[in-house]
Formats: sequence, C-alpha cells, structure tokens
Amino acid sequence: MERIANFIDGKWTVPHAGAYINNVNPATGDVYSLIPDSDATDVQSAVDAATKAFPGWSELLPEKRHTVLARLADLIDRDADALARAECIDQGKPLKLAKSMDIYRAAANIRFYATAAMHVASEAHASGNEAVNYTQRTPVGVAGCISPWNLPLYLFTWKIAPAIAVGCTVVAKPSELTPMTAYLFSRLCVEAGLPDGVLNVVQGYGHKAGQAIVDHPDVAAISFTGGTVTGKKIASSAGPMLKKLSLELGGKNPNIIFADADFEQAVSTSISSSFTNQGEICLCGSRILIEKKLFDRFVEAFVKRTRALVVGDPLDEKTSMGALVSEPHMNKVLSYIELAQKEGGSILTGGKRITVPGRCAKGFFVEPTVITGLTQECRTNNEEIFGPVVTLMPFDTEEDAIRMANATMYGLSATLWTTHLTRAHRVADKLKSGVVWVNCWLYRDLRTPFGGTKQSGVGREGGWEAMRFFTEAKNICIRL
Ligand code: NDP
Repeated sequence: MERIANFIDGKWTVPHAGAYINNVNPATGDVYSLIPDSDATDVQSAVDAATKAFPGWSELLPEKRHTVLARLADLIDRDADALARAECIDQGKPLKLAKSMDIYRAAANIRFYATAAMHVASEAHASGNEAVNYTQRTPVGVAGCISPWNLPLYLFTWKIAPAIAVGCTVVAKPSELTPMTAYLFSRLCVEAGLPDGVLNVVQGYGHKAGQAIVDHPDVAAISFTGGTVTGKKIASSAGPMLKKLSLELGGKNPNIIFADADFEQAVSTSISSSFTNQGEICLCGSRILIEKKLFDRFVEAFVKRTRALVVGDPLDEKTSMGALVSEPHMNKVLSYIELAQKEGGSILTGGKRITVPGRCAKGFFVEPTVITGLTQECRTNNEEIFGPVVTLMPFDTEEDAIRMANATMYGLSATLWTTHLTRAHRVADKLKSGVVWVNCWLYRDLRTPFGGTKQSGVGREGGWEAMRFFTEAKNICIRL
C-alpha cells in the first residue's frame, strides 16, 4: 500500500513517530494509502527548514521567483490527468470536475501569483516638498497554510502561491482526509526547481499537526480555510501570540431568485450551485429564496433537474455527483436531512443514502435532496450542512428576501437572479456577504478580493489582498 510522505527541506520524510493514518477512498470505502500521522516534532523540522530557506528565497529577485512558479503551473498542466484522478479517488468528486475545476484552477492560481510577483508594487506619498514617504512590503517570514478537504489542491495552491510569490517560506498542512494531491504537488516542486525548505508539507490530523503549526512561535502568519468552529479555535490560539490571521470559514449562502430572472439560467445555475462537488463547496447556495409568484414553477423545474442528476462512480464520465468525503461526513449530512423532517420540512426528492452497484457498493453516496416547507428560523436553514441538500423558500417582497438572506450568522456569498438592473445593485448593496454573484455563480477573476463577513471569516484572499496578508508594510519617511 502506498505510503504518503511528508515533504520537509526538499526531501520526502517519514513521520518522526512512525505512525500512519488510513486513507480511505470515499467512493469504495476501502483504505488505499497511508498518511503520516505527524506531530509537533515533524512540524519543528518543517519550521526549521522553512526558517533556513527564508533569507535566500525572500532576497531573490521577483523574476526568479516568477520563473519557478511559472514552471510549477506548467507542470500541473502537464500532469493534469494524473492529478485529477488522484483528487477524484481521494475526495470522491467526479473525475471530470476534478479536471475542469480543481486542477485547472490550481494551475491558474500558481500562474496568477507567478506573474503577480513581477507586478506587485507599493505606494509612495509625497508630503508637499517637506518629505517623501514610501511603503516597503517585506514577507512576514514562515507562513502556516492550513487547507480543507473539499477542494484540496485548488485551495492549497490558493494559499501557498501568494505566500511563496512574495518571498515567504511555508509550512502547509492539507486535510488528513485528502492528502494525496499535496504530496504529488511536492514532487512537482522539486522538478520545478523550488529551493529546499521553501515549501514544507506536513501531513496529519488538524488537532495535532495543524495545531502545532498554529502554536509554533516562529510561524508568523496563519492562513486557514475550514469550518467556523475550527477557525475560532485557531484564532484563540494564535490571537494571544499576535500572529497575522486569515480565516476563510463556513457559509449558509442564499440564492435569491426574482420573478423577472432569466428562468432557464436561474434554474440550471442553481442546480450547479446546489450540487456541484456534492454540495461540498463553501460557496454553494444552500437556501434558495424564490419570489412567491415564481415559486411553484421554479420548484417543479428544479426538482425535475435534480432527479436527472447522475449519482455514481466518480471515475465514470457520466457521473454528475460522486461520493461524500467520508463516512462521518455522510452521516452528518443524513442527520441534517432527518432534522429537516423533524422541523416540518417536506422532502421533494432525495433524502437517502444511495448504494451504487459494483465497486462503489460501500461508498458514501447521498441523493441530491430538495426540501420545502421550512421557515428561515429553523436550524436546517441556519447551520452549514456542506452536502447535497438545499431548501427552497418563497418570499413576498424585496425587503423580505434581503431579511431572509441576511438572517444567518454567516456571510460568505450570495447569488442574485434578476434582470432588473437597479434592483440588482440595490439588493447586492444590502446583502451582508463577502461575495455577491448577480446572474452567475462561481465566476472567478483572480484579482478580486475573496472572503466572508460575520462568522464566515476574517480577512480576504485573492489578488493583492493575499500578497498584502503575507507581507508587513513599513512606512519609510524621508525629510527633504
Ligand atoms: P475543518 O475546519 O475541519 O478543517 C480544515 C483544516 O484545518 C484541516 O486541514 C484540518 O485538519 C485542520 N484543523 C482542524 N483542527 C485544527 C486545529 N486545531 N489547528 C489547526 N488546524 C486544524 O474543515 P473541513 O476540512 O471539514 O472543511 C470544511 C469546512 O471548510 C466547511 O465549513 C467549509 O465551509 C469551509 N470552507 C470554507 C471556504 C472559504 O473559502 N470560506 C472554502 C472551503 C471550505 P483535519 O482534516 O485533520 O481535521
């Protein structure tokens, strides 16, 4: 059985304690590889390597950093098929999605920050003819990057690319549920010529290896994507140490559909925003709010399209929804479907675990599930389920829609469907969320700020925002 290795100081190393965790293929329920169960000693080795590499990497000319990162992006493209297959097996997502979204976007992240390294600039302020101020941005040092299991390589690269581009060195921990592509990526780093110690990947549990990264005094900044509960825990450890923190957390995102929306597009994109990646995307819309006069028509079309989705073997080209990432996560999703029924919800389609015949008979598959009859106040409509479960609710007026959309503790993203231009601006302005998509979903321009408000996070990733996060600004004032 394959043993995944840590990647420390440019070498693949076994965990110090010699312990491993089973890596389960969620589509089959079988253990197919072993993951290092790293501890604080492994993290110490990684931090030592990153500290040693920092002066050399941070002092390189930006174009040299650009060259290595650009090569890395090309290598991801070259190995896209193998990486997509690895992601599919590790995570449970359909192979075609892994290729078209995860791996494609991972290469795009690296390529974007490869070029950004060449173009990032800082400000200068002339104080009349008395003084000139200029801002110097220097990399913070060793950065800790902790990423989740839903979009493994995609979100891993979203963090490490800006960190490395600005001259930081990194100790990263992928989720222990999806370690494989970060491991494969480490091989590409060597091939691309990334100097030893610039990126170190420590695999293992969050409460052990992840926490050791957060607690390490020589890790200057923590960039974390994951659940809100974990984010709070990390903040409570890193806060007293005064570390820089970027927290990208959970969501309970509304899709608001006005009666004047382009019906076809609103239905088909809402299907994608509900069930892509089995609903395991922080940006999935899990509460669909529909203007009352359109409600019945929308529900009918939405349920019909949901029933047409093919849940099955992620390696099969015909599959539109694969397996949930793990058995505990599947059970959590099923428990929310049960809760929705107890709260008075009606299941219009789905609601059960699916047994996929053949090699996937023990896999963790759940039907795409559509629920109506719940109010905004219930737990089902307030807690993040993070699976293929959506609720549909009618609203009367624009004010109702805004109130319902903003009613949860989260504020990550919202989707708005209308052809009324001024309404689009008016409602977008009132929505309390970090991203508002109007007549689209998951459209990505890497220059834009990305992140959540309220309990969905602190700080922003993307574009210059991430590069600012991984640097310290110093104002230098020269009296003339
Ligand atoms: P978790 O919060 O459980 O874990 C995220 C990462 O943190 C994993 O690598 C995990 O390791 C690690 N971790 C857990 N505990 C600690 C700790 N004490 N110290 C340091 N690291 C720790 O999230 P999930 O992996 O379950 O991902 C799903 C969540 O991520 C959802 O809530 C989703 O909304 C959110 N998310 C947010 C996004 C955003 O951009 N806002 C994007 C994607 C997902 P381990 O796996 O071993 O526990």
